[in-house]
Formats: sequence, C-alpha cells, structure tokens
Amino acid sequence: MIKKQLKPKLKKGDFGMKACKWCEKEFEPYHCACKYCCKECAEKAQKQQIAAWQVLRREEISKSRKRRYNETKIKKKCRTCGAELPNNNQKWCLDCLLKEYIKSIGTSQGHQRLTVILASRGYDKEMIMAEINERKLNNEY
Ligand SMILES: [Zn+2]
Ligand SMILES: [Zn+2]
Repeated sequence: MIKKQLKPKLKKGDFGMKACKWCEKEFEPYHCACKYCCKECAEKAQKQQIAAWQVLRREEISKSRKRRYNETKIKKKCRTCGAELPNNNQKWCLDCLLKEYIKSIGTSQGHQRLTVILASRGYDKEMIMAEINERKLNNEY
C-alpha cells in the first residue's frame, strides 16, 4: 500500500521569500500566486500591463488598416480589355461599356442591362451618344 501524502495546510511563510515583480523588494507571500509585495505594486504592474496591451492593440489596428489600404490600392481591371478601373466597384471600363452599348442596340435584354449600368454611372441616353460620338466608336462597327 502506498501511503497518500497529505498536502500540508499552507501558512504564511511556507513559500519562503519572493522578490516583488514590480519593485523587486523581497516579501513573504501568503500564497504561491503572489507576485507583488503590496497592493500598490500589483496595481502599478496591472496598469503597465494594460498600457502594453493597448500599444499592442493599436499596432494591430494600424497593421490591419495598412493591409486594407494596400488591398484597395490594387486597382481592378476591366473584364474585357484589362484597362485599370478608377472605381473598384466597376467591372468594365467606360470604353468597353460604350462599345457593348452600340453592339447591343437592337437587342432588348442586353441593351436594357447596359443602359442600367451606364445610368448607374450617371449617363443618360444623350450623354451616352455624345460619348460614343466623341470617341468615334460608331466608326468601329
Ligand atoms: Zn513591490
Ligand atoms: Zn475595357
């Protein structure tokens, strides 16, 4: 039979002397989790820890901001011709949309769709035709 060793009840002084983690003063802990000699040292250490966490948190935020900024800096390209788009929400450049617009004249669905896309960019029928004439896109077809 192995005799189970009973844990002796802990009293002050059972852990010997410990150096305070804040002021490095030697002190006698009441229990083994004590790291600081007094409440003030514990509070000061806690404040410093919180400040350190805040610095870390701020660094994390600025890092993720930078990452997001770099992502938005990558310009999207026109799905048809590959030209850089000024707006990341766009899928086609104006030139391609206008060309498609001319091609779609006479087709009902495609024309409707392109009219809507161009309208969302602020182009009404007159403006579309003006752009087309200005670019002389009509000659290409
Ligand atoms: Zn202390
Ligand atoms: Zn294009």
